[in-house]
Amino acid sequence: MLAAAQRAARFAGAAFLDCFLPQFCGLCRRRTLSNQRLCADCAGLLRPRPFAYCPLCRFENERADPVGWRLGSECPVHGGVSGLASLRIEEPVLQLVHRFKYSGEKGLARTLADLMPDPGAYEEGTRPYNLMCPVPLFRTRLRERGFNQSAELGAQLEPRLGVPLIVDLLAKRAPTPEQARLAGRARRRNLLGCFAVARPAVVHHKNVILVDDVVTTGSTASACIEALMAAGAVRVVLLTVAA
Ligand SMILES: [Zn+2]
Ligand SMILES: [Zn+2]
Repeated sequence: MLAAAQRAARFAGAAFLDCFLPQFCGLCRRRTLSNQRLCADCAGLLRPRPFAYCPLCRFENERADPVGWRLGSECPVHGGVSGLASLRIEEPVLQLVHRFKYSGEKGLARTLADLMPDPGAYEEGTRPYNLMCPVPLFRTRLRERGFNQSAELGAQLEPRLGVPLIVDLLAKRAPTPEQARLAGRARRRNLLGCFAVARPAVVHHKNVILVDDVVTTGSTASACIEALMAAGAVRVVLLTVAA
């Protein structure tokens, strides 16, 4: 609780400073006039992704726009599971994500988190989510990179969404070979049972936000969703910048 309060205070402090410090566009690095993190030209290049989708089977419900989703339309096969991203997975947002993950530009966490939607805004009632957790990295990968990009995004989202972040809720039990080298089904098999919920009681009967940066094949996120559902989660929404 204390950590959450400290994070909220830091968030408020940062928002306050934003009013006075010059801002530079995260993409073209030109100075921006407002407190926006992307200039109007670059923001105009980002294409929105208006529909919710199912991360498990890629079912895209065109009725599941904000209004449709509020009416409860979900994947007909995987009830309780949905995916929500603000942007299509393409340049230039991939460029931002790449710099964030691999070039150590941790400050981009805020720029990217600001682009992420609030799942509560798409649902009946307010704040129906109980907790939030990031897609984990295996410990050797975490050591190499120095940070988990999904946890960094979650930390930025926590004060904005008002949903507590539990960083170590999911654990990756084994390293996996480079995903890019494996074809779809092998990739999926490779990850099966790879993720464990540390404290299943925390997840039981809960609505969970799973945070990741982007969804490419969706196999990693799918394995995490399956672990959360197996631990008794009622609902899991995968929240990413792009998909
Ligand atoms: Zn720009
Ligand atoms: Zn589905």
